[in-house]
Amino acid sequence: MQVVFVKKIQKVVVLGTGGTIAGTAANASEQVAYTAAQVGVAQLTAALPGLDAALAGRQLVVEQVAQLDSKDMDHATWQLLARRCAHWLAQADVDALVITHGTDTIEETAWFLQAVLQPSKPVVMVCAMRPASSNEADGPQNLHDALVVSAQPLAAGVSVVCAGVIHNARHVQKVHPYRLDAFSSGDAGPLGWIQADQVRWLSAPQAAPVSTGTLAEQVTRTAVNQWPVVEVVLSHAGASRRPVDALVQAGVAGLVVAASGNGTVHHEVQAALLDAQRRGVHVRRSTRCQEGPMVGNSSPWPDMDGLSPLKARISLMLELLAESEV
Ligand code: ASP
Repeated sequence: MQVVFVKKIQKVVVLGTGGTIAGTAANASEQVAYTAAQVGVAQLTAALPGLDAALAGRQLVVEQVAQLDSKDMDHATWQLLARRCAHWLAQADVDALVITHGTDTIEETAWFLQAVLQPSKPVVMVCAMRPASSNEADGPQNLHDALVVSAQPLAAGVSVVCAGVIHNARHVQKVHPYRLDAFSSGDAGPLGWIQADQVRWLSAPQAAPVSTGTLAEQVTRTAVNQWPVVEVVLSHAGASRRPVDALVQAGVAGLVVAASGNGTVHHEVQAALLDAQRRGVHVRRSTRCQEGPMVGNSSPWPDMDGLSPLKARISLMLELLAESEV
């Protein structure tokens, strides 16, 4: 008897969450006044030029996880997304995930997913700066690029692909409100570039620092209204202690101060944060500077390993969730 082994066809799963990449305007020349999250992910992928080449022999699966403008991204949607990612990543015949997302908060979702899931398979997030209805739509090329990147084993972990640049979830930040190349990885530099289906890697993705074996399970199981409340406060000229005091009064579990320069904090805010700490609030520090980690340690509060204030908020929330009894 002859035994024939048939290799199963691998899958790439595209999860839709909305954003400008799925947005529409009244006419094709309108680039600014549009509504995000109107077109389904099945329609976006069906219309994609060069789809077969980008799939590279893999089967395409699509799933609409959410449909929102990412300015409104919330913890409930993050929890659902983490669940669906965990589900698909656990399937042996799934090679990679691609997630369509709005640009406004893509860096936060990318870091959340990286910190929670620490995927060994590629999870490539993708977005657009012009709506799908635009005569300058950048979504189709970005989505095509994301699919090509997702076929690369070196793409392991969560990355963001936009305008031909591949960014690490840890470093990527939206730095421009309108131009097509709206993202930067600061002085860390991008992971690489994708041009004409050719990927050039500058560096390989790094593992995230937040890691507990049960974190993904805890995040997907704990009701989002039980997640520790962590807020960001800004140190700036003319700052007062009022925002910190109000947040402590409201019962926050943690505060991240977006400090000036190399971690300096206005003396009024500093006094309020020290009081908050005495009352059991967990305080962390991050620089509001766009580029580069802080050096040395000139403050009573630990920094968050070079994370931006918004990503430090996520890491502190996850740290407190991991420690909680919930
Ligand atoms: N407000 C949109 C969103 O974040 C912006 C975009 O996607 O470019 O969903």
